[in-house]
Amino acid sequence: MDSRDCDVLILGAGTAGLKAYKAATARGADTLIVERGPGGSTCTRVGCMPSKLLIAAGRAAHQARGAAAFGVDAGAVTVDATRVWQRVRAERDRFVQAVLDDYHAIPAERVVHGTARFCAADAVIVGDTRVTARRGIVIATGGHPIVPELLAPVRDLVRTHETIFDLDTLPRALAVIGAGPLGLELGQAFARLGVDVTVIDGGQHVGGLKDPAVNRAAVAALGREMTLALGVEAAASATDDGRVRLTWEGGEATVDQVLAATGRPPSLAELALETTGLALDEHGTPEFDSRSHRCGDSAIFVAGDAGAWRPVLHEAARGGRIAGDVAAGGKPPRRLPAFAIAFTEPNLVSVGRDFDSLPEQARIGAAKVCDNGRATVDGEDQGLVRLYGDADGRLIGAAIAAPGGEHLGHLVALAIDRGTDVATFADQAWYHPTVEELLQAAARDLLGAAD
Ligand SMILES: Cc1cc2nc3c(=O)[nH]c(=O)nc-3n(C[C@H](O)[C@H](O)[C@H](O)COP(=O)(O)OP(=O)(O)OC[C@H]3O[C@@H](n4cnc5c(N)ncnc54)[C@H](O)[C@@H]3O)c2cc1C
Repeated sequence: MDSRDCDVLILGAGTAGLKAYKAATARGADTLIVERGPGGSTCTRVGCMPSKLLIAAGRAAHQARGAAAFGVDAGAVTVDATRVWQRVRAERDRFVQAVLDDYHAIPAERVVHGTARFCAADAVIVGDTRVTARRGIVIATGGHPIVPELLAPVRDLVRTHETIFDLDTLPRALAVIGAGPLGLELGQAFARLGVDVTVIDGGQHVGGLKDPAVNRAAVAALGREMTLALGVEAAASATDDGRVRLTWEGGEATVDQVLAATGRPPSLAELALETTGLALDEHGTPEFDSRSHRCGDSAIFVAGDAGAWRPVLHEAARGGRIAGDVAAGGKPPRRLPAFAIAFTEPNLVSVGRDFDSLPEQARIGAAKVCDNGRATVDGEDQGLVRLYGDADGRLIGAAIAAPGGEHLGHLVALAIDRGTDVATFADQAWYHPTVEELLQAAARDLLGAAD
C-alpha cells in the first residue's frame, strides 16, 4: 500500500470541503483533499441553484397568469417544458462550472481521487493509499437523498432532488412526499408550471416552521396552489396504466411521478467511523462542537451537511472555513444565529430561537401580512410575521411567512447577531410602503406599544 501524509486532510470537495481546503492552506498547512466524484457541489448540481431556477420559471408563469388582477391581459399562458428545462440546465451548468473551476485550481498533487475510509483517528485509506494527517481531518462528505419505504412498490416512478432536474417534460400530476423546504419549493414551482401537485407529510408543519400560528398562515397560503395532505400516513401502489396511486385516510391522488423529499441524512456510512473512537449519536453521526466544528477533543472536524447540523449552504461554507482554519491552528469565531429559508411564495423563514425552544418568559409580537400596505399593493397579502423577545427585551428569534421574507429574515438575523433589543429594533428608519414595515409592526406589538 502507498502512503502519503499531510498536516490537514479534507474529505469531500463540495462547498464545505473546498472552503476547508482554502482555509487550512491559507494558514500555511500542508493540505490534501479527497474527492470521489467529478467535483462540483450539491448546491450547484442538484440543490440550491437548479431548484431556484425552476422556482424562477414557475414564478414567471404565475405572474403572467396573475397579471389580469392588475388589469393587464397577458393572454393565455402556456408553458414550454423543453425550454423550461433547457434554461434550468444551462444556467445550472454555469454555476457548476464555477465550482469546478475552483476545484480544478487546486494543484493536482493536492487532490486524492477516490472514496475515503478511516483506518485510524489520524488516517484514511483511499484505494490503495493510506493518507495520514498530522494536525487534523475535516469530514465534509455532505448528505444524500433517501426514498421512504412507502414508495418501494413504485420505485421506478420516484425521483429525488438528484434526478428531478433530468426531466425533459412536465408530469400532469406529481406527488411530493415531505413538506420540508425542498418538497415545498419544488412542489410550488411545479404547480405554477401547470402540474397538479399533491404534497403529503406525516406531520402538520411545513417548510421547517415550528411556530404554530405562522405555520397555519403558511399552510393557508400554499394550500391555494397545491393540495396539502398533512398529518397523514400514505400508502402507494402502481396502477394498471403505469401511474402511482397514493391513498391516505380521507384522501387519494393518482400521479405520474413522485418526488421523495423526506430529508438528506449525512453521507458517513462508508467512512468506517467506528475506527476513529469518536463519540457517535444514535444515527452514527459524530458529536461535535458547533462553534469549532471539532469532535470532542480529537483532531477530527465535521463541516456541512455531513454533521446534520443546520444543513444549509451558508453554514456549510462557514463551517468548512472554520474547520479548516481551526484544524490548521486557528481559533473559532462566534456562532451565528440559526437561519433557514424556504423559497416558496410566501417565503417561509426561521431565524434565531425557534418556537419550541423559547424561554418561559419569552414575549411574542405578530404582524399580519394582510395589514401591510405594500403587500396589498403587490397583491401578495397572505402570511404572518412573529418576532420573539426574551425577558431582558432582546430580540431572539422570528418565524416568518411573508412576501420578501428572505429579506426580513436577514434583518432579523443581523439584529440578533448584534444583540439588538426589541425597542431599538422597532425604532429604526422603516421606509414606507415596504414589507419591512411588518418587522416594525411585529416589534411594536411585542412591546405592547400603541400604534
Ligand atoms: C434541492 C435542494 C435545494 C437546496 N436549496 C438550498 C438553498 O436554497 N439554500 C441553502 O442554504 N441550502 C440549500 N440546500 C442545502 C445545501 O445545498 C447544502 O447544505 C450544501 O450543498 C451542503 O454542502 P456540503 O459541502 O456539506 O456537501 P456537498 O456539496 O454534497 O459535498 C460533499 C462532497 O463529498 C464527497 N464525498 C462524499 N463521501 C465521500 C467519501 N467517503 N470520500 C470522498 N469524497 C466523498 C461527495 O462526492 C461530494 O463532492 C439545498 C439542498 C437541496 C438538496
